[in-house]
Amino acid sequence: MADKRDYYEVLGVSKSATDDELKKAYRKLAKKYHPDANPGDKEAEAKFKEASEAYAVLSDQDKRRQYDQFGHAAFEGGAGGAGGFDFTNMDMGDIFGDIFGDLFGGGRSRRSSNGPMNGANVRAAVRITFEEAVSGVDKELELNLKEECTTCHGTGAKPGTHPETCSKCGGKGQVVYTQQSLFGMVRNVQTCPDCHGTGKVVKEKCSDCYGTGYVTKRKKIAVSIPAGIDSGQSIRIREKGEPGINGGERGDLLVEVTVSRHPIFQRQDYDIYSTVPISFAQAALGADIRINTVDGDVIYTVKAGTQTDTKVRLRGKGVPTLRNRQVRGDHYVTLVVQVPTKLTSEQKELLQKFDDAMNGKSEEPEHEKEKGKKKFFGK
Ligand SMILES: [Zn+2]
Ligand SMILES: [Zn+2]
Repeated sequence: MADKRDYYEVLGVSKSATDDELKKAYRKLAKKYHPDANPGDKEAEAKFKEASEAYAVLSDQDKRRQYDQFGHAAFEGGAGGAGGFDFTNMDMGDIFGDIFGDLFGGGRSRRSSNGPMNGANVRAAVRITFEEAVSGVDKELELNLKEECTTCHGTGAKPGTHPETCSKCGGKGQVVYTQQSLFGMVRNVQTCPDCHGTGKVVKEKCSDCYGTGYVTKRKKIAVSIPAGIDSGQSIRIREKGEPGINGGERGDLLVEVTVSRHPIFQRQDYDIYSTVPISFAQAALGADIRINTVDGDVIYTVKAGTQTDTKVRLRGKGVPTLRNRQVRGDHYVTLVVQVPTKLTSEQKELLQKFDDAMNGKSEEPEHEKEKGKKKFFGK
């Protein structure tokens, strides 16, 4: 071999190139000079080897440091012999995985064998009302679901024919590529491109399912939504998802529930919150008021002298828990005293009188009361 070229020069990068820049440069060269892309081209093969060697050294931090210090002399006298390079201690698997994995489309095989594989889960959504979430509800969903083709019974083969064992992989679903390279034998296991890992090949396709073995049908699915469900929770319906492969189980159907907002009730976990307006007179004198709950109206006795923002707990009037619908949260009511905004002149007059009375300035003081009041205020 003639004088070895500088590794950085081979890859066309600067001495300060980053790992990414090295990889990029090598990827470009490897693609261009790879023996598979240039069958029989000795020069391309030599360039490929040269670039691979340069990359192998420069992508390894230790080796790169040695090379920067001593140049090619750093690796001379190794097992590689004259002008050769000793790859025996290098993990070329990593480099191949890195570079060739995506370069040649193989990548990591998604399936390791042609064994049974469960079908994917299917997601659906349903919207229910607040009341439905409290009481539970049965819904019917219409979904497009994959069903086994009845014509070919899921084989994908035209009736009267059968899927044949894939000749490329011998039915194993994966193929092993062995590459002879300067790094030695490189074994790559990939999903068989002919049968896509099923191990079987359909020669004459079923015309009803175009060889897929499945047909998509609009299906009605009953969903029983339990009382107590909350927005964002999902219900799992077993085996209503995508069909499995090679005898695998069907996936599940996951129905995500969205609960519509209620005009009056807010929910927090299993408790319900609402606000109820009461008049100033009701608050001051006490009164029976109607409070709207998910069980219908209840009569609640407001105590005399109730302040605004008083919280009332209605025990067990909340949302049933998912585990046991007899166990329920509570309903918290906030009583808000309303201040009237529109008053007639008569009402104003009465209120003014009331206010004066509260301040001890009655227009027609009743002597008895006045005395009492004075005593009361200590004046
Ligand atoms: Zn079919
Ligand atoms: Zn195959």
